[in-house]
Amino acid sequence: MHHLLLDSRRVGQAAGSLFFALRGPQHNGHLYLPELYQRGVRLFVIDSQQEVPNGLAAYPEAEFLLVDDALTALQTIAAEHRRHFRLPVLGVTGSNGKTIVKEWLAQLLAPDELVCKSPRSYNSQVGVPLSVWELNATHTLGIFEAGISERGEMARLARVIQPTLGLFTNIGTAHDAGFTNHLEKVEEKMQLFLGVDTLFYCLDHELIHEVVRRHLPEHRTFTWSRQQLHQAHVAVTVAEASADRTVVRVHLARPLPQEHTFTLPFADEPSVENALHALSVLLWRQVPAAEIQHRLDRLHPVAMRLEMKQALNDCYVLDDTYNNDLAGLNLALDALARQPRRGRRTLILSDVLESGLAGADLYARVAAQLATHGVERLVGIGSEIQQHQVAFQAVQTAFYDTTDDFLRSFQPETFRQETILVKGARRFGFERIVTAFQQKIHGTVLEVNLEALVQNLNFYRSRIQPGTKLMVMVKAFAYGSGSYEVANLLQFHRADYLAVAYTDEGVDLRQNGISLPIMVMNPSPDAFQMLRQYHLEPEIYSFERLHDYLAAAHQHPLPAIHLKLDTGMRRLGFAESDLPELCALLRENAAHLRVASALTHLAGADEEQHNNFSQQQLAAFQRMTPQLEETLGYPILKHALNSAGILRFPEAQLDMVRLGIGLYGVEATGREQQALQPVSSLRTTISQVKTLPPGETVGYGRRGEAVDYERRIATLAIGYADGYDRRFSNGAGEVVVRGQRAPIIGNVCMDMCMIDVTHIAAAQAGDTAEIFGSQLPLSELAKRIGTIPYELLTNVSERVKRVFFAE
Ligand SMILES: *Cc1c(COP(=O)(O)O)cnc(C)c1O
Repeated sequence: MHHLLLDSRRVGQAAGSLFFALRGPQHNGHLYLPELYQRGVRLFVIDSQQEVPNGLAAYPEAEFLLVDDALTALQTIAAEHRRHFRLPVLGVTGSNGKTIVKEWLAQLLAPDELVCKSPRSYNSQVGVPLSVWELNATHTLGIFEAGISERGEMARLARVIQPTLGLFTNIGTAHDAGFTNHLEKVEEKMQLFLGVDTLFYCLDHELIHEVVRRHLPEHRTFTWSRQQLHQAHVAVTVAEASADRTVVRVHLARPLPQEHTFTLPFADEPSVENALHALSVLLWRQVPAAEIQHRLDRLHPVAMRLEMKQALNDCYVLDDTYNNDLAGLNLALDALARQPRRGRRTLILSDVLESGLAGADLYARVAAQLATHGVERLVGIGSEIQQHQVAFQAVQTAFYDTTDDFLRSFQPETFRQETILVKGARRFGFERIVTAFQQKIHGTVLEVNLEALVQNLNFYRSRIQPGTKLMVMVKAFAYGSGSYEVANLLQFHRADYLAVAYTDEGVDLRQNGISLPIMVMNPSPDAFQMLRQYHLEPEIYSFERLHDYLAAAHQHPLPAIHLKLDTGMRRLGFAESDLPELCALLRENAAHLRVASALTHLAGADEEQHNNFSQQQLAAFQRMTPQLEETLGYPILKHALNSAGILRFPEAQLDMVRLGIGLYGVEATGREQQALQPVSSLRTTISQVKTLPPGETVGYGRRGEAVDYERRIATLAIGYADGYDRRFSNGAGEVVVRGQRAPIIGNVCMDMCMIDVTHIAAAQAGDTAEIFGSQLPLSELAKRIGTIPYELLTNVSERVKRVFFAE
């Protein structure tokens, strides 16, 4: 069977892989052909011969399928595959809860069925065909989710899924942009269900009910309700709701009147609704009530994202501890293989469940997956994997019967600089392994959402003229977000250049496998040889530096340079009056020096009031650069704009732009902030909560002033040594606890600070406090203490653990 391949980072078995050159607004799959071919892929679906780099002849062993549209081809192949299987297939759509309902149903039905389901939230035009492609003859039930954002999309997904059953979760405001109104959106989603035998939905969503009625006769529906108890197949009344569970009484009118009581292990409304959807399917299947309750008790929350966590001994842990089937394992291994190589790749794996394959066959497949993903070390936990350990002779192995056995003999020092995927079925409780690996330095983390970062990148890309290159600033630890993780992502997403402040930052990137061109803005002369060794291109901003560099370049050839021109910033760079001397030097040394680019930096790109000045700077730059090019006799890249400049002076984007803060989610002009996603969020935990009698003060210098009422004060595990500015002391700063703001009280200390939580009754030790993030925007926080978001971001100390949400 062919493996369908869309992402060049995910080449597993190259032989037999069929690559689809898909297109997106910022993406052209054709560009990846050289890399894929080199890695052994030989089958390509393309929709344009012209866009194949170097022409078809450059790939003598390849076979090309030329189609009108690669995405349509992918969907057609998947639809054809689906047609081979006669099994019930449940299609799930709706605004919210699709993934959770799908995962829960898969869990709840696992004892009776071999389920093939969409991995994670693979519900798009691309994700659905990939999910359906996983169907094989052993499966007895398919559950696939479908998500859309525009008209016309659902019919395409329905053609691929061909559902026989349907579940419509609800309708909300998400993805409203592509639709004129709610009705249109419901109608569009309904397209998934036109051919189903039975559709499950909740009557209380009136618009859904109205649209379903228009398309399906009543006998093809199965409904539940908490309001219209006489109309629904399943009438639900809530008998009891406590902090962590909800007891419901359920009345079924048909086939025979019955009444049951179930305890749902959730209290929040979205989970209760999702659980009731799943419950209605179990009731329809006539699973006995006691058995339903038994299965509900074991229902667990669904982890939606794969998290990468910093761990002890310079290791990283990819945490995927909630299920373990073959398709999920493959996805998780893909994610592991996408991480740049730092040391070994290690997999901690439980028994693989629900595969439908015999043990020997199953573990041979697992072993093959390990080989293609470059895994060098395997820790197997469970009796089955242990029994089939002969399959894993190609890698270093250790086996344990149980998670407890592993933890008892856990030796942290045997793991060093490794990227460790922890992948286990729920009942193995692998989250305890992740905890053991995580540095418990203190409870403060900077969460970096790499997916948001890519969205921001794409936003700026949409504002950059075609043909203009993109340099991304990853100086200062990528504005605090973690240089090599960010650089790795930018490399994949085809940035043209990276820039760092100092040579050692560039060396660090090279040592972590970054091969993009890198500009070093402030190279020190004693490290010129490092520039050569690691192929880093220096920015040269003064005659002194230029003479140093030339002297060194006469000894050994050195990388090309970037000339910094000062057009008004008055910080670094050659002035217009320096040009004659500069050009003379360049001419004399033409044989020893190559110039890659000339750049200038605007002093007030983000502010209207400086527009005239910015225009003068740009004009000066335009006067200076032709003289340089004339002297050199070859074209150089010319670039002037930072994030704010890209948006405000589109006509001056020239050959390249330099994106900085915008990538990290802060729109410096403030006008298009809503187009960006927050990337980092700084969190800490409450260490202790105290009740303070009236009249007492808080902290050093007794600065948290006394008041005449009783207060509750919480101590947070963050202080100025973590980068939480001391200027936030005494009410200047606020944090968010349980969705509510709480002011800083007293002075911020080195490792701690205190907040007033008198008004947040539920606040307790162990709660999370957001310092900045989606609930507390960086720009607001910066304003409070008279600084800029740049400073807050880059101040987050390196001792704060970074957690990356993998893309
Ligand atoms: C940091 C920097 C940028 C990026 O600036 P942002 O305001 O963060 O977009 C661009 N150019 C130079 C020379 C820089 O130092």
